Amino acid sequence: MRSHLVQRNLRQDPPLALRGEGIFLHDSNGKTIIDGSGGAAVACLGHGHPRVLDAMRAQMDQLTYAHTALYSCESAEALADLVLEGEPGGLTQLYLCSSGSEAMEAALKLSRQYFWEIGQPNRQKYIARRQSYHGNTLGALAAGGNAMRKAIYQPILSDAFSHVAPCYAYRDRGPAESDADYVARLAAELEAEFQRLGPDTVIAFIAEPVVGATLGCVTALPGYFQAMRAVCDRHGALLILDEVMCGMGRTGTMHAWEQEGVTPDIQVVAKGLGGGYQPIGGILANHRVMDALRDGSGAFMHGHTYQAHPMAAAAALAVQRVIREEGLLANIQAMGALLEQRLVERLGNHRHVGDIRGRGLFWAAEFVKDRGSKAPFDPALKLNDRIKRAAYDNGLACYPMAGTIDGRLGDHVLLAPPYIATAQDIDSIVARFGDAVDTALAGLPKSR
Ligand code: PMP
Repeated sequence: MRSHLVQRNLRQDPPLALRGEGIFLHDSNGKTIIDGSGGAAVACLGHGHPRVLDAMRAQMDQLTYAHTALYSCESAEALADLVLEGEPGGLTQLYLCSSGSEAMEAALKLSRQYFWEIGQPNRQKYIARRQSYHGNTLGALAAGGNAMRKAIYQPILSDAFSHVAPCYAYRDRGPAESDADYVARLAAELEAEFQRLGPDTVIAFIAEPVVGATLGCVTALPGYFQAMRAVCDRHGALLILDEVMCGMGRTGTMHAWEQEGVTPDIQVVAKGLGGGYQPIGGILANHRVMDALRDGSGAFMHGHTYQAHPMAAAAALAVQRVIREEGLLANIQAMGALLEQRLVERLGNHRHVGDIRGRGLFWAAEFVKDRGSKAPFDPALKLNDRIKRAAYDNGLACYPMAGTIDGRLGDHVLLAPPYIATAQDIDSIVARFGDAVDTALAGLPKSR
C-alpha cells in the first residue's frame, strides 16, 4: 500500500530510518549505513548525541512553548548569548525561526526594512548569484539561481532579484586568466549590475561563502568576497551571507566568512545550528541594521508562531555547547584535511572526476564525461543519483546534486561527515564512496 505521507519521490516509498547512533543510521531494509553527509550537511554531531538528548529532555520537563508576543525564554536567550559571544564580525543579534528558508525570508525582509527605516524606500532590489540555492519558499527561491528548482514557479516569483556569476574557478576562469583577474572580472560584473539596476535601488548582494546545494562545495578564490564587499560598500548596499549549509563550524571555523576577510551585515544559518535535533534556523545581524530598526519603528515587521521555540533553542544550545566545549573545530580541521587527502588519493586521477573541492568537513566531487573538455554527463543518465544508490548499497549515505552549468546540468556529490568523525570513519566513508563511484560509472549504458 502507498504511504499516506507525501514523499520526495511520489512513485517510490523510501525505507524507514529506524534508529540513529553516532555516525550510523539503521533502517527498515535491515541495513546499517554511515551517514556520510548528515542528510544535507545537517547532522553535525551525528545521531543521538547524549548531551543533546539530555538537554532536550530537561527542556521538555520545564517548558515546551511560550508565545514570543508575551515572553522570551531561557534557552533562546542562552543560545543567542553563546552564538554571539564576543560579537563576531560585529554581529550583535540573533533572530530564531524554524528552517533555512524561513531564515532567508527573514534576511530579505530585515534588509528591506533597514532601508525603509533609514529613509531609502527606493531600495527594492537584490543581487544574488546564478548558481546558488537559498531555500524553497517563494522569496528564497527567487533569490536562488538554481534554474531547475525555479522553472515551474518562475511566473509566481518576485522580480526583485537579479543574478550575477558565482566564483566558480573550475569552469569559469579563463584559461589564461589569473586568479586576481578573474576576481576583478566578477567584481566588475557585480558593479555593472548595480549600475544597470541603479546603485541606490539595491538592498543587498546575497551569496553563500561556500556554495552548497547547487554547486557542491565550491569555495571562492582569495579576495573574491573582499572585492564583492567593496562593491556593496561603494553603493551603500548590505552584504547577506547564506551560511545555512556551510556555517556553524562546517568549514573549520565557526563562520565560513572568517576565512574570507569580510563580515556580513546579515548572516543566515540553519543546519549546523541545531544539527537536525530540532528544526531551527536563524539570522545574525549587526549594529548597523538592528540600530536602525530599534531607533526607527522599534520592531522587526516580521515573525512566526514558532519563533525562538524553547525546545528548538534548547537542542541548538546543547549542540553549540558541545562544538565549543569538546573542541570540535580542531577535529573538523584535522579530519577535513584527511578527507581531502583520502578523496584525492582515491579519486584524484579518476577520468570522470573533474574536480574535488571543499573546506573543513564539507567536500564534493564534480563528475564529468571528459576531464579535458569538462563536458558533463547527459542529465538523463542521473549519474549523481546512481552514485547515491550505489553508495547506499555499500553502506554510505552521501548527498547527490544536479547543479546547473549555464542552463545545463552537472553531477556533483557532496560529503559532510559529522564533526565527531574519527580517522577510521573518514577512511570508511572514502572507501565506500570511491567504490560507489566506480560501480555507478560501470553501470552507465554503453552508448553514453
Ligand atoms: N540556503 C542554503 C545555502 C541551503 O543549503 C538550504 C538548504 N539546502 C537553504 C537555504 C534552505 O534551508 P531549508 O531546507 O532548511 O529551508
